[in-house]
Amino acid sequence: MASMNIVNVGKAYGSLTVIHGVSVEIPDGEFVVLVGPSGCGKSTLLRMVAGLEPITFGDIRIDGKVVNDLPPKDRDIAMVFQSYALYPHKTVAQNMGFALKMRGETKADIEGRVRKAAEILDLVPYLARYPRQLSGGQRQRVAMGRAIVRDPKVFLFDEPLSNLDAKLRVQMRAEIKELQRRLATTMIYVTHDQVEAMTMADRIVVLRDGRVEQIGSPLTLYDTPANTFVAGFIGSPS
Ligand code: ADP
Ligand code: MG
Repeated sequence: MASMNIVNVGKAYGSLTVIHGVSVEIPDGEFVVLVGPSGCGKSTLLRMVAGLEPITFGDIRIDGKVVNDLPPKDRDIAMVFQSYALYPHKTVAQNMGFALKMRGETKADIEGRVRKAAEILDLVPYLARYPRQLSGGQRQRVAMGRAIVRDPKVFLFDEPLSNLDAKLRVQMRAEIKELQRRLATTMIYVTHDQVEAMTMADRIVVLRDGRVEQIGSPLTLYDTPANTFVAGFIGSPS
């Protein structure tokens, strides 16, 4: 668990600025959803938080400490991608333990942590299977398992459910929320789906063209949208 502070963070690709000084303060254990139309900068912002993309200006702080120059592996952050990022030729257990193996942890340690994560995610019976032998929901749980075994302070999700069918998406939303309740970990969840944002978030950050339009609870955004963009996006009458 950790607090996360995004302070006036910006990103330019050459002469094109795509993030224009975004600030978001996230207390310990909060579930924040970053929402906005395609191309507004959600993935770029998340990748800067993870350290996968250098920031052009501003600060990213974890528990008060500036991490701008720390490589991803030293940030205590885990990113969950869509389930198709699994290694097809590794078993579920090997997929989940791979990052730990790369970190040089002992076999016994890795097995213990994979087992514990598998219990949390109801994956114990599937540890010896390969991704192609799993359902879409099970694969997505393996993708989450890879993050959980690392015991990160912060979880980042980038549209993790976008390649699942509608029914499974609804089920996985509930599972991710349950996971957050159990782990009590700070999570930043990116989606372009306003229903996902409204049903999952403690607080929502609405992004548009690389700028924050509004930050607030789902109810606040619904009842008192800051402008017609937020109102239209969240779906309340304006
Ligand atoms: P989102 O995730 O909200 O759909 P992105 O963060 O992927 O948006 O992209 C934000 C903007 O930055 C887009 O205009 C995109 O074209 C641009 N962009 C993203 N990555 C690069 C890059 N490597 N080089 C140049 N422009 C980029
Ligand atoms: Mg994106």
